[in-house]
Amino acid sequence: MAIPPPPPPPPRDPPPPIEPPDDIEPLEEDDDGESANEHEIRDQFLRETGHVQQEVIEIAARDIERDAEQEERLAREKAVKRESFYSDLIYTLTHLRYEEAEARVLWVNLLTHKMEMSDRLGRNVGIRVAALDYFKNILGALDDVKILDASQYIETAQLAVTDGLTGVFNHRYFQDRLSRDIGRAREENTKLSLLMIDIDYFKQYNDINGHIAGDVALKEVAAVLRRNLKRNDLVARYGGEEFAVILAGVDREQARAVAERIRSRIGEIDFPNEQVLPGNNLTISVGLAEFPADAPDRGDLIAAADRALYSAKHGGRNRVESADADKRREQRIPMSLKVRYSTDENGEGKTIEAHSANLSLGGMCLLTDEQIHEGQVLRLELDGLDDAQPLLARVMWRHPTRHGHFQVGLKFVNVGAKELERITQFVARVQP
Ligand code: GH3
Ligand code: MG
Ligand code: MG
Repeated sequence: MAIPPPPPPPPRDPPPPIEPPDDIEPLEEDDDGESANEHEIRDQFLRETGHVQQEVIEIAARDIERDAEQEERLAREKAVKRESFYSDLIYTLTHLRYEEAEARVLWVNLLTHKMEMSDRLGRNVGIRVAALDYFKNILGALDDVKILDASQYIETAQLAVTDGLTGVFNHRYFQDRLSRDIGRAREENTKLSLLMIDIDYFKQYNDINGHIAGDVALKEVAAVLRRNLKRNDLVARYGGEEFAVILAGVDREQARAVAERIRSRIGEIDFPNEQVLPGNNLTISVGLAEFPADAPDRGDLIAAADRALYSAKHGGRNRVESADADKRREQRIPMSLKVRYSTDENGEGKTIEAHSANLSLGGMCLLTDEQIHEGQVLRLELDGLDDAQPLLARVMWRHPTRHGHFQVGLKFVNVGAKELERITQFVARVQP
């Protein structure tokens, strides 16, 4: 059954007349008028989906004359695909998936069939015609065989997984791919790193320079990401001005180096009229999380990278934060300290005495006899913590204990870098 060609994509508005910044290399155009960037995306897409290039099929099938260069090209493809070369050839042609060994036999039969047909007709019939005849009429009973115009198929399929503005993979594909990569990392017992990247103060950039300039900047950020990553890394537009990068087989420290490289590249590039931004520079913040150390599955890994990104923003932006820094902050040390608290943030209400059960850099667990409600903010006094600044904490949860007390989970609020330093020193001092 033939597949009707897909409708052509809607025409796009002509690109805005904004000059790209000077030090951004223009994307090279090759003979097809297709940019090197699009080529790369297509290559990556083909590898991802188990297709082979049209031209490779034609070389392999001797639909076109082979010269030394093409022999070499074929050898290279075979080396790259190793275990799936013939399986992928047949798949691209027919959309039927065979094991490699079986596919290899099929391919030989198919070529023989092509030779016979060509002999009889007195012309080179081409692999596609031969495949159609072979799969339909010789193998028979294959109603679902689809001999597609592969280039058309690939174009449509590629549109479905890429982001229209930036040309990198889209959100849905990112989620799919992350699931698969985590599955593989789990099976093969390897690591994987995820970067969540967000442009700093981008609303301001847009508001002042306009949406068109904003779009140009988004495209350039995507291009920088692509240029600074390896073939097997995956870049996707996660949403608005956020990008995600999957680094399969890459551990935290390697990923941190990648993230730092990207961050500094973006900082170096001159974006049009970036002087309007704080620091006179368009920058990015990056959150990094590692599987399996930071999270056991896809959802939690994204959340961990997102929290790290949030820390990077709160730490002042234009920086890389890793999810394990957060975890360290949340590590609880069992410790019974005398704590005085008041339910009045200004410290004017009644002061109640209580004890801690444990303490972390992010908060504490408190044992008290008094009723406290979730969401309430307490002002704390701790022996040994200088009280020039009040330490405020929010009640996150509350359980009655068997002895008629309450166990209360507290999270310190307004903890900036300075406050964190103060708490860190305090914890280090009182730690048993
Ligand atoms: P922060 O440093 O905290 O990330 O601040 P921000 O301003 O970047 O963050 P916020 O999330 O408040 O704003 C994101 C802005 O990104 C909102 C919108 O103006 C812009 N934006 C999102 N998607 C697009 C897009 O497709 N094109 C353009 N031009 N702008 C976009
Ligand atoms: Mg944002
Ligand atoms: Mg932003």
